[in-house]
This record gives sequence, C-alpha cells and structure tokens, in this order.
Amino acid sequence: RVSNGQTNGMKRKRQDGPKQNNPLQNKKIKLLESRKKLPIWSRQQDIKAALEKNDVLVLSGETGSGKSTQLPQFLLESKWCSKCVAVTQPRRVAAISLARRVAEEMGTPLGKSSPASKVGYSVRFDDSTSPSTRIKYLTEGMLLQEMLRDSAMSQYSCVVVDEVHERSVNVDLILGFLKGLVKGINKKRKTPLKVVVMSATADVAGIARFFDEPMPSDKASGTDGDEEDDLNEAKINGDAPKRPVASPKPVSTCHVEGRQYPVKLSYLDRPTDDVLQTAFERIFKIHCKEPMPGDILVFLTGQETIQSLQKLIEEYAVNLTADYPKLLVLPLFAALPQHAQQRIFQSAPPNTRKVILSTNIAETSVTVPGVRFVVDTGKAKIKQFRNRLALDSLLIKPISRSSADQRKGRAGREAPGQCYRLYTQEGYNSLEKNATPEILRCDLSAAVLTMKARGVPDPLSFPFLTPPPRDAMEKALLQLLQLSALAEDGSISVTGKAIARLPLTPTLGRVILSSARSDPPCLRETIDIVACLSVENIFVNVETEETREQAADARGQLYRRSGDHMTLLAAVQAYAAENSDRKAWAERHLISHRAMQSVMDVRKQLRAQCLQAKLLPSGSSFSDGDDEGVSSADEELTERILKAFLSGFANNIARLCPDGSYKTFVGNQTVSIHPSSVLFGRKVEALVYNEFVYTNKAYARGVSAIQLKWLEDLFT
Ligand code: ADP
Repeated sequence: RVSNGQTNGMKRKRQDGPKQNNPLQNKKIKLLESRKKLPIWSRQQDIKAALEKNDVLVLSGETGSGKSTQLPQFLLESKWCSKCVAVTQPRRVAAISLARRVAEEMGTPLGKSSPASKVGYSVRFDDSTSPSTRIKYLTEGMLLQEMLRDSAMSQYSCVVVDEVHERSVNVDLILGFLKGLVKGINKKRKTPLKVVVMSATADVAGIARFFDEPMPSDKASGTDGDEEDDLNEAKINGDAPKRPVASPKPVSTCHVEGRQYPVKLSYLDRPTDDVLQTAFERIFKIHCKEPMPGDILVFLTGQETIQSLQKLIEEYAVNLTADYPKLLVLPLFAALPQHAQQRIFQSAPPNTRKVILSTNIAETSVTVPGVRFVVDTGKAKIKQFRNRLALDSLLIKPISRSSADQRKGRAGREAPGQCYRLYTQEGYNSLEKNATPEILRCDLSAAVLTMKARGVPDPLSFPFLTPPPRDAMEKALLQLLQLSALAEDGSISVTGKAIARLPLTPTLGRVILSSARSDPPCLRETIDIVACLSVENIFVNVETEETREQAADARGQLYRRSGDHMTLLAAVQAYAAENSDRKAWAERHLISHRAMQSVMDVRKQLRAQCLQAKLLPSGSSFSDGDDEGVSSADEELTERILKAFLSGFANNIARLCPDGSYKTFVGNQTVSIHPSSVLFGRKVEALVYNEFVYTNKAYARGVSAIQLKWLEDLFT
C-alpha cells in the first residue's frame, strides 16, 4: 500500500509538470484573479466557520456574487468534507454550465472525460461524473432520483440547494427530505450531513425557521429509503420503528452583499398589443442609437417566441450598413442543445454586439456576461394546474415584481446599464410581489409518487416549507391510484416503484410500462414517441395556413392517419434510418435537426434505462437495425401503442358530439384539435391528447384518433 501511494505521488508530480505548459493550470491561474474579485470571496472564512459550528447554513446573495461557483469550492477545504458536495440547480443548462466553469476554475477536466476529474454534472439523460468527482452539479430531479436509491445520501458530505427562491416542487421536496436527514432520523448515516440553502432573494428567515422547527413526525420525511431493491418487491416502510431523534443544531444565516451598478429604468407610456414587434423595435433603437457598448438581453416567454424574434432580427440585420456593428443573435432556452447554450458565455467577435433572447433562465440561474441592456417583456411561461381539467397547462403569465427587479439587475452586473420594461409603470405596480410557489399551483402526482417511493407513508404530514392544499394532495393520490402506481390501501405498487425510477412524469412512465407489458410489447416504438414528447417540438413552426400547406407537402409521407403519435414515430424512424445526411433530411422535411438530435439522445438514455429496469423480455435488446422495415401504418401496432398511451392519459380523452364539437370526458369541456395536429379539421369518434393548451380558445395538442371500444378493453 505504501509503495502504491509513493508511485501515485510521483506520478501526480510528473503529470502536473511545469505549470506554464499545462493549459488547464494556466486557465486556472488566470481565472483565480477574477474569482478573488467576487463579493463572496471575502466571506470565505465566515462561511467555513458557520458550517464548522452548525449543520445548516442559509445563504442569500445577489445573482452574480459567486454563490454557485465559489461556495462549493470553499467547502472542499473543510475537514468535515471528505466526500462529494452536491449542488442542485432547477435547470439543466445551469447545472452543465456551472460544472464546466468550476472545472476550469479548479484546473481539472470536466466530468466523464477523465477518471481524475474533480467536477462533474448529472442531468436527466446525461450523467457526466467520474469516481473522483468532488463537486457534482445536478438538477433537482436527479438529486431526488438519487435519494430514492440511497436515502442516507451516503456519498455526500454536503448538499447545496441553490436557487431556492424559485420554489419548484422539487426543491420543496428536497428541503423536506434534507430536514429529516439533518434531524438525524436516518440511522444509516454515520457522519452528519451538512446542508447549505442558497437564494438570490428568498425569505431567508423563513427557511432558517423551517430547519429549526421540529419534524411534524419522525416518519414524515421518509425514515427509510429502499436500497437497491428488486422491482418485484413492493414493500413499504410505513411501519418503520421509531428512532431516537438527535437534537438539532441551530441554523446559521449569512448574507453576501452583491456588486450592483445603477440601472436606468424606462417604461412604456401605454401598453403594447404586440410585444414582439415592440421588442424588435427597441433592440434596433438600442443598437443604432445607443453609444454605450454592451450586449442586449431580452426576456421572452419560450422557444417559439424566441425563434420568431430571432428570425425577424436576423432578416432585418442583414440590411444594416457598415456604419453599425454587426448583431449576433443567441437564443437561450431549456431545450436548447448544450453546445448552443455554451455560446452565451463566449464573448462576441470584434465589432459585434450580442443579442441574447432568453426565457427566465437568465433571470437568476445563468449569469450572462457582457450585458448592459435588458429588454423585459414582463411575461413568463408558468405551469399551472387547471382544476376542472385535472391537468397541468403551460400558461403565459405576468411575472412578479421580484422577477422584474431581478431581470433589471442583469443590466448592472459589470457596469451601469439600462433596462427597458415593455409595460407601463402601472402595469409594474399591479404585479404580485412574489411568484406563488409551484407546489401551490401544480399537479402533485410526481411529488407524491416520489414521497411514496422514498418511504413516506403519509404525504399529508410531510414537512413542507409551504404545505400544499389538501385537496391537491388527495387528487394526486387519486391519479396515482388510476395509474395503478398505488395499491388500494395507498401503498406504492410494483408499477409505482418502476414508474418512480424512470426520469419521466408518472403519466409517461405509466405509458412506457404499459407498452412493455402489451402483447406483443411495443416498448421500442413507444420510447421513440415519448422521446419526442420530452423535447419541445420537432416540427418547425407552422403558423399560417400557407406554411401549414408547405409543411404538409414536405412531411406528407410521414403523416399517419391515426394522428400525431404515429406521425412522430414515423418521423423518428425515418430520421434514424437516414444514414447519409440527417441534417439535409431534416431540412427537407421542415423538421428541426437540433430537436431531433436531442430526441436521439433521450431515446438512447431511455432505452438504456428500460434495459436496466428489465422492461424488455430477457435476452432481447435494442439492436442497431431496429429502425428499418417497421411499418408504422400497421393498424394493430397503432392500436397497441395508443392503448399504452391511454393507460397514462385516461384523463385526456375527448369524444365527438352530435353537434360536431369535441368534449372532454373529464370536465365535459369543449376542446378543438390544435392546428399543428395532423388530425386538424378531421372528425373521429374519440381522441386522446397529450396536452391541453389555452390560447384564444381551448385546444388539444398532440392528438390521435381512438376507438371508444378500446376504453372498455382497458378500463373494465
Ligand atoms: P451566483 O450564484 O451568486 O449568481 P455565480 O457563482 O453563478 O454567482 O457566478 C459568479 C460569476 O462567475 C459570474 O458573474 C460570472 O462572471 C462567472 N461565471 C459563472 N458561470 C460562468 C460560465 N459558465 N462561464 C463563464 N463565466 C461564468
């Protein structure tokens, strides 16, 4: 053992070599200078001392003060920190870009690229860590998945919960579980787990109080996780014996003062009815009239609006004379592939101004360098539970005042800046102060399933920072019963356990399981469709009648009479079978090549996970030749696939009424087929749909035709 140690030591010395020849080390030294200037740098000792003394630290600080990048590095130097530090992020973009940045700052390769890498990340469908990872950035969903596998979080010395002010359902669940762990109710943990909760704005005192207060009951946050248990074993932990609860240590709080330059603010005199046009005009006014250098950050609602505005700007920018700098438009939204996201952090080429068109990702999650101008449309897409329809919809809503202030702050990170609000001062005054936590407005079935899988017998008594309404919890329990994820007595079923381990919503998880169990199975095809549904939209937008016709011409041979599900399958299979030039194929069919690349990634991951979960008959596999020769026009296959979807989407069914309209089964609401659907304008006896969207009227999106008699086969 001694000689091994010596050899390793010698090897390490040789590897490090002369510093000037090592690009990783050179970059590290260069970055150290800018790290030292971050406001959090001077608080290093306070932070370390707080965590020596107490197990929980609640830290607030302005966006950009260095919380996400620096704090985890400070912790590594502490004696108690012998294992890995987990840092959760609400979004995959942030998890990946932070890991990349911190790897550079530490002079270590990133993630799985090298077994010696100290920094990695883990996001849905992409795990990039190595055995020597010490700092791991991961999405909240991934940490919850890890908690299902190891409830004691034994590989971690510390969990840092970042961006807690966003108050996603997942962050609320994590806080509840962590509270249980720091209160010592998990006897599998040998050393205390340290917890840091970080926020740009949050009610820090409220969170500190939450960790101080005793647990509602020592069983409530899951006393016992299930280890690597067999999917066939549906044992619950409701009867776990009571254990002595360690007396909690108090919680520390700390505030890091940010560096914020003044930001000049302007409002519209009267509200605009075309916010994209107003944004477009504002961008060119800034670009052509503003002598001040600096990039422009525009806050929009989602991929569609971002892409339309990008097109408008690019078309117009080619007409700019050589007197003006060039414009480089960069989109930033969650579904954007990784390499495109990274471009945000690179500085613009000479004589070029960057225009970043972003969703609320850039509000606090990702710090975009170089920004001096912010254009804020005042809206964001948020998930909202619609009671009557019993499902979540994405709705475009006004942001809160606190979000508007965050957006404004992005202009003053590096120098004085300017913020243009594309709404009136009265509009701003009428906004709500803070956004409502997601747990009060969303479908809770995924959350309840996670709690059940984690051994919480009674989710109603879970330690929530903000307890959700009782009826929302009961509705979630009911939905899980409908999906057969719970047994009649409320315990988690074999199916429920299997669903909880798939990185999908309970609904899609149920679809995958049904497809694996159908006779013969149609798992492979169903994975292809589910992969498409996990990516925002593979079909390039079809907004007008004319472009819709063009699209129908281009994609004609992919369209399937049964509807959108089989059309997606046909598209994935044709794309996968294309061996020469996939990009050209995608362009020819007006399909987003970028989205298709993501679909192929997701499909690969889902296939691997289904193999691991033994959802395929033993001995079978996904072979490379899979994509050829499948006739998706096959009616019997279509029926099997759509029945699998019905098992998950039983609440999303509408039938044709004598007056020619479609009415939903649940809620009896009139709903129209969305114009983007291949079934648009057709009359069929009944529909299953993926999504309910409300724009000028109620639409079903992602629609297929079903037969009413299938429902009898399924539900009787
Ligand atoms: P906070 O968490 O307090 O918002 P961060 O630690 O995320 O602050 O960021 C601190 C600084 O590090 C930012 O101002 C930015 O300059 C830099 N930074 C963060 N992430 C990246 C990245 N991916 N690429 C380049 N610089 C980055």
